[in-house]
Amino acid sequence: MSFVITQGCIGTKATECEKVCPVDCIHPREEEVGFDRVEQLYIDPKLCINCGACMAVCPVLAIYPEEAVPAPLRMFTKKNADHFRVGFDEFHQKYPEGRSKELIKAFNLKEAEKQKANAAAR
Ligand code: SF4
Ligand code: SF4
Repeated sequence: MSFVITQGCIGTKATECEKVCPVDCIHPREEEVGFDRVEQLYIDPKLCINCGACMAVCPVLAIYPEEAVPAPLRMFTKKNADHFRVGFDEFHQKYPEGRSKELIKAFNLKEAEKQKANAAAR
C-alpha cells in the first residue's frame, strides 16, 4: 500500500507534498529535468512509507491512501506506479492528457450527483 496522487494535482503541481515527504518518493521534483513536461506529480509506491504527511499539506486534496482512492479515480494508482516503471514515451502514450481530462469530467459529474443526492436526502 502507498499514497496516490490523483486528478486534483493536474495543472496545480504546487509541490508542497514534495517538501514534506521524509523519503523523497514524490517526483519529479521542481528542480528535476522533466518537471515542466508532466501534468502532475507522482508517488513511487515502492518507496512510500505511508506516513500521510503529503496528504495533510495538499491544498487541493489530491492525495489519498491507496485503499481510499474514489472509484472513478482508481486508474491513478497505476498511473503513479507506471511513472516510475515505464519510459517517458510509453508513459505518455498510455496516459495522454485528454484521458486525464475525461477522468476529471467523470469524477466531477459523480461528485455533483452525490451532492445532489445528499441535498435531496436532507
Ligand atoms: S505518505 Fe509519506 S512517504 Fe508516502 S508519499 Fe506521502 S509523504 Fe511521502
Ligand atoms: S501538494 Fe497536491 S497539488 Fe501540490 S504537487 Fe502535491 S499533490 Fe500536487
